[in-house]
Amino acid sequence: MGSPLASRLEAVRCDIADAARLAGRRPEELTLIVVTKFHPASLVRELAELGVRDVGENRHQEAQAKSSELADLGLNWHFIGQLQTKKARQAAQYASAIHSIDRERLVDALATAEVARPIDAFVQVNLTDDPGRGGADPTDLERLAERVLETPTLRLRGIMAVAPLPEEESAASAFARLGGYADRLRRIDPGATSISAGMTHDFREAIAAGATHLRIGSAITGNRPAAG
Ligand SMILES: *Cc1c(COP(=O)(O)O)cnc(C)c1O
Repeated sequence: MGSPLASRLEAVRCDIADAARLAGRRPEELTLIVVTKFHPASLVRELAELGVRDVGENRHQEAQAKSSELADLGLNWHFIGQLQTKKARQAAQYASAIHSIDRERLVDALATAEVARPIDAFVQVNLTDDPGRGGADPTDLERLAERVLETPTLRLRGIMAVAPLPEEESAASAFARLGGYADRLRRIDPGATSISAGMTHDFREAIAAGATHLRIGSAITGNRPAAG
């Protein structure tokens, strides 16, 4: 067996395939995004050598620096964190997908970005009552999705969410609600079929609930270095 990173990646890939089969789904329907936040560019390079094509970052400056240093790899950079309106145009330069579209002002800022091709857009919905957690209030879902559809620099792909803390609500119940929001989005745009959900501790529940894009960090990368 290769490096510890290679073994962890392989173990997670197996777990994903098992969870998919258990849910009667095909593993090929699932996109694994390896979340590399706080880890150095060298780790992302190692992941690319192991066949990873999709990586996730949640801080603009870090994502900008790493994507520029690793431009030769041609990776798909997924922006998954809260995005400041004033950084939106810059994020559009390297991000092939933005999973944290949570307000109309952010969509308006992205509308002015110069992009080679439209960015994959996920509308993030907040599954808690705490506005600080990020994500749009579910009541704003349709309005936000309509705004994305009117924006030529964006292509609406689907919905995204982070599960509440386990003591607040079980992941299975929260992801079931998310499935309902995904249905609402599909009523607006039948092509918006993606569901970005599932992290290290809840990706099995997310797969059971229909997730298509998994954002998995520490199970693969190991513990994150302290925040800088
Ligand atoms: C950090 C992060 C992840 C990955 O978390 P892990 O628990 O390390 O798998 C997924 N999604 C978002 C939005 C994150 O910020």
